[in-house]
Amino acid sequence: MSLSGPALSLISLLLLSATLSQAHDTVCIVGAGIGGASVAHFLRQYSPSTLNLTIRMFERNGVVGGRMATVNVSGETFEAGASILHPKNFHAVNYTQLLNLTVNSPSSDSGGFGIWDGEKFVFKTLSVRSKLPFVDRIVSLANSLLLFVRYGYSLVRMERFVESMVNSFLKYYESFETRPVFESVDEMLKWTGLYNLTARTLAMELADAGLSPLLIQELVTVITRINYGQSVSMSGLAGAVSLAGSGGGLWSIKGGNWQMAAGLIDRSDVVLHLHEEIESISSIGENYELNSTLGSSYTCDIAVVATPLDELNVQFSPSVSIPKRELQHTHATFVRGLLNPAYFGMNSVPEIPDLVGTVEDPDLPFTSISILKQHGGKDITYKIFSRKPMAEAILDSIFSVRKETIRINWGAYPHYTAPEVFAPFILDSQHLYYVNAFENAASTMETSAVAAENVARLILSRYFGSVPVNLKILSSSSDGGGVHVDL
Ligand SMILES: Cc1cc2nc3c(=O)[nH]c(=O)nc-3n(C[C@H](O)[C@H](O)[C@H](O)COP(=O)(O)OP(=O)(O)OC[C@H]3O[C@@H](n4cnc5c(N)ncnc54)[C@H](O)[C@@H]3O)c2cc1C
Repeated sequence: MSLSGPALSLISLLLLSATLSQAHDTVCIVGAGIGGASVAHFLRQYSPSTLNLTIRMFERNGVVGGRMATVNVSGETFEAGASILHPKNFHAVNYTQLLNLTVNSPSSDSGGFGIWDGEKFVFKTLSVRSKLPFVDRIVSLANSLLLFVRYGYSLVRMERFVESMVNSFLKYYESFETRPVFESVDEMLKWTGLYNLTARTLAMELADAGLSPLLIQELVTVITRINYGQSVSMSGLAGAVSLAGSGGGLWSIKGGNWQMAAGLIDRSDVVLHLHEEIESISSIGENYELNSTLGSSYTCDIAVVATPLDELNVQFSPSVSIPKRELQHTHATFVRGLLNPAYFGMNSVPEIPDLVGTVEDPDLPFTSISILKQHGGKDITYKIFSRKPMAEAILDSIFSVRKETIRINWGAYPHYTAPEVFAPFILDSQHLYYVNAFENAASTMETSAVAAENVARLILSRYFGSVPVNLKILSSSSDGGGVHVDL
């Protein structure tokens, strides 16, 4: 008799459960962002309750959430980092339901959008401030028409390009019966057919997809600059993800997206060490020793790095090898005040679109300016993204009134190049894992969760599959590429 699918999964779990009920193991996770929180969540969700597992999580900050963080501007809270989720970000959708979080409905685009080239708006949609939904709908239709007049059928091709990427990405939500555990990012991307998109630039991919140069230079560039602070020379996959983050139905969590990480950590029975930075990870025999800046030392059976290593000074012993990459720094400047219409060649503030995007020009001091909240006619909170810090003098010329200015310098996401070279998920031959290896494919809250889920399965299959449980049953490798396990 041959066993497959759910029956095999059940037997695997029972065997795992019986064999491991006596053992006690510690998983140490470095980083309490959505990646680290998701690893903890999926480890708990996928392991039998009899598994005696301690999960320690280390976070150098005093709060969890990492790049999901809020900023307080004059007593009001706004997203400072990761702000929008796609309607098909299914882990985030599940987290929201599981944790009983409230969703902010997508906002209307009736405040208008414009593309600024440093001297003029090369494109501007209609801007009508109305509380009436039917007016919103008419404005939205008129704006779609304006876009179509400028960019033509290329817009449809762009939509198809994004849709095809999103559909491929959906394979990462398939059940364990059809979805392997991936040992490398390359293998994971090849399985969905997304790998090739990381080998070429977005500009090349879009030209092949038949998009006009005007659409690529303007609208597409505006979007990649807003979402990743980068030009269309970025890799095709990250570019496509960025375009997906400009469509309809985008959402966020009321009170802050960081609550996803907080809720997952809370319900995953995690020993959380806040204000504790890990400065070294050493492999000692079959264990890892993690040393923190507080002078404490922890012995772990499994170590998981859930933060980008590119700008970190963690000492590994023995050393680990990851491709050198740079983080793109995004300076987020929050201003409560009022824009200066003269800077944009306008007579009044309402003529300035709610979202000002920019074309690729190194002389432009900002990549985007958007309205976060309109408090009154002359009192508005804005968010400015820029590649360099916004100088006081430039802010003084862009704004006529500034009551409060807050600056955040984010080591925001990878600087994407094509072809991408990926760091390994498994940093040594044992049990040192790196969730953010996947970030060089694309950096979003959801991609972090998807990578974390795979890492959790990888841990359960590689670590707990290596005890004398029936390995043949645990390893149901299908294409010979790495360990493929039913959990
Ligand atoms: C400005 C900005 C806008 C963005 N917009 C979006 C968006 O709209 N939608 C979207 O989906 N994504 C967006 N992103 C990307 C998204 O924020 C990230 O992809 C995602 O949050 C990464 O999560 P993570 O858990 O992998 O890493 P992080 O959130 O960076 O978490 C890593 C954690 O590890 C901690 N840490 C680091 N080193 C150590 C150490 N040695 N010891 C202990 N702790 C350590 C850090 O303090 C941090 O809390 C944006 C990012 C930025 C910066």
